Amino acid sequence: MMSKKNTLTTESGAPVADNQNSQTAGQTGPVLLQDQHLIEKLARFNRERIPERIVHARGSGAYGHFEVTQDVTKWTKAKFLNEVGKKTEVFVRFSTVAGSRGAADAVRDPRGFAVKFYTEDGNYDLVGNNTPIFFIRDPLKFPDFIHSQKYDPYTNQQEPDNVWDFFSLSPEATHQFTILFSDRGIPKSYRHMNGYGSHTFQWVNAEGEAFWVKYHFKTDQSIECLTSEQAAEIAGNSAEHHHIDLLHAIDNGNPPSWTVKVQIMPIAEAREYRFNPFDLTKVWPHGDYPIMEIGRMTLDRNPDNYFADVEQAAFDPGHFVPGIGPSPDKMLQGRLFAYGDAHRYRLGINHTRLPVNCPHATKAQNYGRDGFMRFDDNGKGSKNYEPNSFDGPVQSNENLYAPLEIHGVTGSHEWVKHKEDDDFVQAGNLYRLMDEAQRKRLVDNIAGSLSQVSRQDIIDHSIQHFSNADKEYGNRITEAVNELKKIESNQISQRTFQPF
Ligand code: NDP
Repeated sequence: MMSKKNTLTTESGAPVADNQNSQTAGQTGPVLLQDQHLIEKLARFNRERIPERIVHARGSGAYGHFEVTQDVTKWTKAKFLNEVGKKTEVFVRFSTVAGSRGAADAVRDPRGFAVKFYTEDGNYDLVGNNTPIFFIRDPLKFPDFIHSQKYDPYTNQQEPDNVWDFFSLSPEATHQFTILFSDRGIPKSYRHMNGYGSHTFQWVNAEGEAFWVKYHFKTDQSIECLTSEQAAEIAGNSAEHHHIDLLHAIDNGNPPSWTVKVQIMPIAEAREYRFNPFDLTKVWPHGDYPIMEIGRMTLDRNPDNYFADVEQAAFDPGHFVPGIGPSPDKMLQGRLFAYGDAHRYRLGINHTRLPVNCPHATKAQNYGRDGFMRFDDNGKGSKNYEPNSFDGPVQSNENLYAPLEIHGVTGSHEWVKHKEDDDFVQAGNLYRLMDEAQRKRLVDNIAGSLSQVSRQDIIDHSIQHFSNADKEYGNRITEAVNELKKIESNQISQRTFQPF
């Protein structure tokens, strides 16, 4: 006889008598509605998928730790950074952006690089990318931008026309398009790429003195990339290429790590800095603000269950801890709303209670109660209002970050330009630091995609942006596009669409 612990049960724990044969009316008759196990099993199966993320749907994750290697207490009072040698548990999710959950990993796309630090002061989420910048600088443009990158409403596939039409009318994307079509547009794996916090954030020290900060996670595995041809072959053979690479590296005792560095800008320098320091389409050149090591992040534990920890992981740029806060970067401000909202839609109001998302080094205690799928003790009999006279949790009265001095009037204001700001200068700087082989691959990658656009005005406008960055850059793209179009007009067969 089987022992009790091995008995298969229904959801309510009752033993299942037969898991192979549905109940029927007689041996040859139809299936019975009274077969509770069958109905429950089919119904549960139908509900296995939850809404996929609107962006970054495809991802991989791992646990590990962050270790402080340099004293940073003069810039921030964040407790997890307050001592050299201090270790904090992290969970990291890497992702592609445009593809749906089943899409291939080895594609030209930015990569998400989201880090959750489980600190003693609550979770700190740094929700970054593998690029130090982004395509746009105002969150009002984000839904349009993503629509242009994802599936077209009629053809239900990515369309070069949409990708480049939006670009041709959004010159601020020239810098990020240059990164996207460069070698780094297709990392060899998640282990072989850098991560960046991308936005400017605020750090504040124990004396209340504030600084602007940018984060850089430099891969210790070295940067390695795939060419478009290598990526196409890998994506065709194995959609899960990056995912399996990370899983196996950790399982085989080869934990990837990143050296974590920051750039620090004193608050007083921001106003007069040559670039608007809150513009997400720009970096702070290293020559202006050198990158300084602060720690190392190592990923050494795969989650036991993909759905529980990776699919249900919820990162929120609004999850700060005392000593770290937001900047007036408009994109960051938009994301402070959008991420929590996305998780409330996708996972529900109690997603912060899930094991991967809840604090690990402290406990969340507040007066939020109830809601769909509240599965813990729901605060038991403790008071659910504040103030109260029953020793319920109270505010700390600690300044989490420093106040920001504001001038002017409310309104839909245009971006404030600093003296060297334009949409092209940093794209040109990046082009000019590439060697000849890198420039050739960049130009060929852009031309391969741009030449598939059906309207010449969109092609011309797009090339104008690259010419504005560097004349040679634009001229070479013009030549390469013309060459490809000549070849195409000589070919009878139609080329397959491949936006990137
Ligand atoms: P630096 O010469 O000091 O730095 C150049 C940076 O470019 C390095 O960090 C290098 O990263 C990175 N890089 C090299 N190839 C690529 C690529 N194909 N895509 C993205 N990054 C690449 O110059 P500046 O700081 O003055 O910046 C010049 C340009 O470099 C910028 O306009 C920007 O496009 C790019 N850049 C700058 C960064 C910054 O924070 N200042 C960060 C990343 C890029 P690595 O050292 O890891 O090889």
